[in-house]
Amino acid sequence: MQNIENRGILTVVSGFAGSGKGTLMKKLLSSYDNYALSVSATSRQPRPGEEEGVSYFFKTRDEFEEMIKNDELLEHAEYVGNYYGTPKSFVNSMLEKGKDVVLEIEIQGAMQIKKRYPDTLLIFVTPPSVKELRRRLEGRGTETPEVIEKRMKRAAGEAEGMEDYDYIVINDDPDICTKQLHEIIRAAHYTPAHKAGFIEELKKELKEQ
Ligand code: 5GP
Repeated sequence: MQNIENRGILTVVSGFAGSGKGTLMKKLLSSYDNYALSVSATSRQPRPGEEEGVSYFFKTRDEFEEMIKNDELLEHAEYVGNYYGTPKSFVNSMLEKGKDVVLEIEIQGAMQIKKRYPDTLLIFVTPPSVKELRRRLEGRGTETPEVIEKRMKRAAGEAEGMEDYDYIVINDDPDICTKQLHEIIRAAHYTPAHKAGFIEELKKELKEQ
């Protein structure tokens, strides 16, 4: 009997703006070779240094709404006045190739994915304290004070949804945190949901012997 489960794991990573998840995603991809990171579409303006097709696919609101209409997105949400969404085709083709696909998305999108694809692994990343969260947001230097306040308020709302995630990872040290993320995703390969085909095959063979 051969192992017929070679589809990748779909993982959603969420966290407050300033939780450091962007850095963690880069580290996860450069440290291990089984991951593919989904590139989202957004209607927000690019920040300095962000590249089209790498950071995001930057769209106008009209273009984004067209993508929704054409069913091109796995999920989408509005966050601080802008649309964000996950293009379907990349995620599906990578999962089929056996890659573990990571979506770095906010909480509304995470809940949509969980509802549609219950086997998805949901991980929430948080800084060790609220003080540290504010320090990281201010330290970025790319946002206006108004946006920072909006994001802090938004964080208070998002914290209400933390219990809906499968795992909470505290990002104190990015290297340790990246390793923890990797270990959690590795473990997901061994759940009954991911071994469903194997279990079925085994049961069938046992009955037939
Ligand atoms: P930022 O503007 O800081 O890049 O992202 C703002 C928020 O949008 C972050 O919490 C990020 O995780 C989330 N986000 C990025 N891409 C997507 C997406 O495709 N779908 C959803 N629902 N959220 C996203």
